[in-house]
Amino acid sequence: MTTAKEKYAACIRCNNCRWLPVPKSADQAFICPSIQYGKNFAYSGGGKMITGYALLDGKADYTPEVLDSIYACSVCGGCDVGCKTNNAEIVEPLNSIYELRRQCVENGHVPVALERLLANLRQYGNPQGRPSNERANWCKSLNLPHTSKLGEETLLHVGEAAFHSAQWPGLHFVVQRLQDEGVKFAVGGAEEPDSGALAFDIGDQKLARNLAEKTVAWVKKSGALRLITCSDTAFMAFRSVYPRLGIRLDDVEVLHISQWLAQSAVYVRQPDGLHFNVVTYHDGCRLGRLSEPYIPWNGEWKKMFNSLPVREPDTPIRFGTEGIYEDPRALLASVGTHVVEMERTREFSYCCGAGGGGAEANADFAKQAGLVRLQEALSVGVSTMVTSCGTCANHMNQLAVDAGLPIKVQTLLDHLCQRGANGAVAVSNGDKP
Ligand code: SF4
Ligand code: SF4
Repeated sequence: MTTAKEKYAACIRCNNCRWLPVPKSADQAFICPSIQYGKNFAYSGGGKMITGYALLDGKADYTPEVLDSIYACSVCGGCDVGCKTNNAEIVEPLNSIYELRRQCVENGHVPVALERLLANLRQYGNPQGRPSNERANWCKSLNLPHTSKLGEETLLHVGEAAFHSAQWPGLHFVVQRLQDEGVKFAVGGAEEPDSGALAFDIGDQKLARNLAEKTVAWVKKSGALRLITCSDTAFMAFRSVYPRLGIRLDDVEVLHISQWLAQSAVYVRQPDGLHFNVVTYHDGCRLGRLSEPYIPWNGEWKKMFNSLPVREPDTPIRFGTEGIYEDPRALLASVGTHVVEMERTREFSYCCGAGGGGAEANADFAKQAGLVRLQEALSVGVSTMVTSCGTCANHMNQLAVDAGLPIKVQTLLDHLCQRGANGAVAVSNGDKP
């Protein structure tokens, strides 16, 4: 089972990739927002594999309908968790979705809106097509050490939040915490490259490799031993996309900001007037199941009992359980915020539809997915949803406003920053990073 066609053919059409392995209710049984939107097998993880096979076999063409079934999808990996829980590593729909999108790009069949994002990434180094020097705006007033001054122990990577001024207070909060803890760090400002994750998700692996190589060169040039990123998407790239591309950060330790914050400090003193707070937490796919480290495997497929394919040597199966789930929850608890869990959490989280080019390729798909998730949050009786991912927060917050839903969506950093500003006091736990 080594060729793309063989991998596509491994799908047994059991449909388990559309559902949670053990749903708690019929209303929230789907794990795949694509099939819930398209209502046709082609939109499921398995359907995309059959499409990939048919395209390679010349039995299907890249029609608008076929492209919609491929790209009305946020590459969230829910299907992969659903499939592996039932079929172990034999099928791996996520790998096949990456391959199918690579095939689309190679053959020149990419939705126009996604082609625009790729063109912007090529020309400006960001998908929005903003001048690259705008990346430095978030830290202009802070006078921070820059990567051009080499030799700081830690490099702070901010990712797409650099272009969203609403997320700057959260970034400034991070800077304050690093300074409070005495961490010597530098930022990239306008020199920070795009991680390449979006290009990879869309299927342009050549562009993704180019951006990933630029990022690794930037990190290595800085001389930093540790890279802390505020971006869920970039964190996913460092842990699971770069290994797929054979690109390594070598000895540089990579942390998501929630890991560093949870390790470095506890928030214990809450003055009178800081009310106990209740929210729900949305596990964004990219910090969650998609950030589970990917371990490249170059073994052989053998047959057990003359029929069952097995890997030799064996390798761990990626069930999505090794994503970052506990640190954000611990941080919320540390500022007196109680999390009421939704039915679909952690590796079984339901994607909001915004990532992987899903929102740009088909806005109706992303809108439906986001509204489904907001309704799930409302069903547990909260008026605030917190998520680590800025893309999820922007997308669902706008949907909530447009639909007049009584809920707001905050990023984790914004929430910590606001609770801190309202009086919670950060106290070092003594374990200096
Ligand atoms: S991708 Fe996996 S879960 Fe989905 S239909 Fe195929 S074998 Fe079944
Ligand atoms: S990646 Fe997500 S949206 Fe796409 S088919 Fe799989 S579960 Fe559905």
